[in-house]
Amino acid sequence: MWRFGKQHSFDLEPVVVNGRDYGVDTVLTDGRTASASLRDGRIVIRIPRAAGEEQAATLFRNLKQRIARSLERHPERFERQALLLKHGSILRISGRTFRIDVEEGAGRGAHAWVYADRILVRMPEGFCRDWALVTRIVLGALSRTFQPMAEARVSELNAAHVNASIRRVRLKNTSSRWGSYSKRSRNISLSVKLLFAPQEIMDYVIVHELSHSMEHNHGPKFWALVSKTVPDYKERRRWLRRYGDRLGSEASSTDIAGRHAERRPGLSGLPETSLRAP
Ligand SMILES: [Zn+2]
Repeated sequence: MWRFGKQHSFDLEPVVVNGRDYGVDTVLTDGRTASASLRDGRIVIRIPRAAGEEQAATLFRNLKQRIARSLERHPERFERQALLLKHGSILRISGRTFRIDVEEGAGRGAHAWVYADRILVRMPEGFCRDWALVTRIVLGALSRTFQPMAEARVSELNAAHVNASIRRVRLKNTSSRWGSYSKRSRNISLSVKLLFAPQEIMDYVIVHELSHSMEHNHGPKFWALVSKTVPDYKERRRWLRRYGDRLGSEASSTDIAGRHAERRPGLSGLPETSLRAP
């Protein structure tokens, strides 16, 4: 066994591809598979906790090389994780508007506080314009703030849908998936970026994950179950595929060369759901 403290096993030097620097983070997971992904402009390499020290070092080295190669050859594949929140960015969450205020603090840590209409981010000296870090700090603070709301929504939909026994609900800053259900732990994880989507979209993802408590694959029985509570799930899925990658970023992209980002359409075409968030 090895512990996270032994960072000497990993070469955390940033990867430089096409003139851009990508910082590298390592995360130990309880899962069995190692993976590399790009999150808010940083490479995240996940290594199973159970791997031996030598094996972990090899996995890390290979994954780092592989993601660098993919970034070089197919940069477009990674564009979806480009959400970058900045000073002055506006976020809309369930009808409320939050403005991001970044200020420099004397301390070494970065923190964010969510108020009624603004999110205050205090960054360490010299890091005030590290937007990738600002983005991570803000998403972390939003996860904690809106966790109770997500929990309430899951139990409301659960009661109307499958009435499964769910142990925990977590809002997470994941870039690759909108939600997940763990058969073993009976936990549901939801992407914190769903907060920026219309309620119907988050509801669809919740119902999707709840349905996995009964059906573990995406077979016909699974979709039949989803459609019992969300008959128009196909439209919501399509919406998520089409606009999901831009969630949260429409406001922040307006300051690039003064161009206004294409506005994300609402779901006017969709019927109102009978269940609404409180
Ligand atoms: Zn699924």
